[in-house]
Amino acid sequence: MIFSQPDFSVQPTGTVIQPDSLLAVFQNGKILLTNDEMLPTFLQMQSLLPDHFKPFELAHTDKYSIFSPDPFFNLEIQETDDFTYKEISIFRSLPFNTAALITTSWHLWSWYKNHRFCGKCGQPLRPSTSERALQCSSCGCMVFPTISPAVIVAITCGERILLARNANSPFANYALVAGYVEVGETLEHAVRREVLEEVGVHIHNLRYLGDQPWGISGSHMFAFHAEADDNEAIQIQKNELSDAKWFDRSELPERTHAVSIAHELIERFRKGKL
Ligand SMILES: [Zn+2]
Repeated sequence: MIFSQPDFSVQPTGTVIQPDSLLAVFQNGKILLTNDEMLPTFLQMQSLLPDHFKPFELAHTDKYSIFSPDPFFNLEIQETDDFTYKEISIFRSLPFNTAALITTSWHLWSWYKNHRFCGKCGQPLRPSTSERALQCSSCGCMVFPTISPAVIVAITCGERILLARNANSPFANYALVAGYVEVGETLEHAVRREVLEEVGVHIHNLRYLGDQPWGISGSHMFAFHAEADDNEAIQIQKNELSDAKWFDRSELPERTHAVSIAHELIERFRKGKL
């Protein structure tokens, strides 16, 4: 099964910025967008770029920019009539490709922001000139971007699907069971453990469906389908979930966030394709 994939790929470090390179500028948890909710191009932003513009310079402030594909530098760009800062959550309502660009840039930006010093000797980290990595200015230790693997599973029983409501999320819609992979686990083991922990149900016929980078939480989602018996009692993990129940295909709750693999899985079930 092929899930929606962005039609860009992150370019190697050192890629030369082109006039049509897209620019991701983050400030205080917001993203700078054009009036038609697109990432601005280098050409559009050129007149706003400061004189000290230096690709590949990393300064540890709250204000970074990342070109798509990758070069980044320190910028302080103010809003204009043409560009406005929007809450990062706006990606959920944007076209898939724009959303993927924003979340991928956010992933890199957050990683750079949170990896300022070497964990081995405490000296400052600097961008590597040869790889997408940070290197210690003193001991030479290399640090690569952190990607946290996670699993998500559509559990079905005939015409019904098991959805759960997160106890701690601001988006407290009914959603699929999901969780991070532990050290030493296979993906399939992680799915079985998460399902047992969160809803107390035994699954069978587990099969892998596809994956999606999910940069907004620095993770990478691996999607599965599994079956379960809807007569088995559901026992929710109360510190994680506020509720979990079976929904008939015809009475699935409406969903507004169209860019996630979770959305795609539920919509496939709604259309009878899962
Ligand atoms: Zn070091």
